[in-house]
Amino acid sequence: MHPYLRYLTDRLPEMTDLLTQLVRIESFSADKEGLDAMADAVSAELTRLGAKVTRYPQTTAGDHVLGVFNAGAGAPIAMILHNDTVHPRGAFAARFKIEDGKLYGPGAFDMKASHVITFYALRVLQAFGEMPNREIRVLFTSDEEIGSTTSRALIEETARGAALVMVMEPALPDGRLKSSRRGVAEFVVVAHGRAAHAGGDHQRGVNAIQEIAHQILRIQALTDYTRDIATTVSLIQGGTARNVIPARCEIHVDARASTLADAEWIAAQIHALQPVLPGARLEISGGFDRPPMECNAERIAIFERLKQIASPILTLDHGPSGAGSDAAFTAPIAPTMDGLGAVGDGLHAADEHVVLSSLPERAAMNALILREW
Ligand SMILES: [Zn+2]
Repeated sequence: MHPYLRYLTDRLPEMTDLLTQLVRIESFSADKEGLDAMADAVSAELTRLGAKVTRYPQTTAGDHVLGVFNAGAGAPIAMILHNDTVHPRGAFAARFKIEDGKLYGPGAFDMKASHVITFYALRVLQAFGEMPNREIRVLFTSDEEIGSTTSRALIEETARGAALVMVMEPALPDGRLKSSRRGVAEFVVVAHGRAAHAGGDHQRGVNAIQEIAHQILRIQALTDYTRDIATTVSLIQGGTARNVIPARCEIHVDARASTLADAEWIAAQIHALQPVLPGARLEISGGFDRPPMECNAERIAIFERLKQIASPILTLDHGPSGAGSDAAFTAPIAPTMDGLGAVGDGLHAADEHVVLSSLPERAAMNALILREW
């Protein structure tokens, strides 16, 4: 057994305790009090490890926290984590349990296990006197699950100049790294028609709902599974009364793409939509909040090197993720890999859980990456 892995396996009970403490601090994306309590907890851990800690106070969102080790030393590595979860307060009492070597709880897998893995990766390096002589930046944001509006600039700044960006999101359920991320877009299409009495003045009206019906079919038809493109008209609202020809109808569209070219293509198609009914007008807004992270030649090369570094601990593989993450923001800026966190399952679901034996294993793996990259 690798000495790091032996050291960490001996500490699995304390890793489990720390994970329990962090999961108990419920930190839904909209819960500033819970998020700030998480910011306190990670600041305390970073301070204990000797980092220089900077807190970025937010007015409505939770505060962000950056810890820096060896400031100014060469070839920086950035580790990106998020404190928020998709679970509103109250889920801990209902769902927390440890059973068959798995820890269940809201946000345990996504991604508080990653916090524990990160802290212990640093701890094992310090215990062995093998902290690399390089700057290590560890960023904890508060709004990843809702698009990273307040943290995006800080994420990009943290990634700038890094030799490697380690996005500590959970691994795929079988432990594979996430080498690609689909891009996620939201568009809003509003049809403007002309209101008129549905009985007495039917000819004068321009029915905005009818107009939107044409557009819905066009938008849905952009879906192409062979290209991994999916478009979904997911919300609709229109009309004012049963006997009035509606003057306005609005739809929201979710769109996903795996390549930058396809993301641009979808956005162009949607923004080029033209009205069908004479007298109708379309108002179109939106785009990709997170671009896709492609599994290109650069990503494969990063993966191959990580696989080699991790080989004393485990055999790594990689695969695609259908969801978005902050890796999409860092990939254009610096070499990025995602999915370095724990092994588990039930992402965002009631049975979300972590395989506890993966905590020492992934912490040892990440320690080697920090040392060897
Ligand atoms: Zn996450």
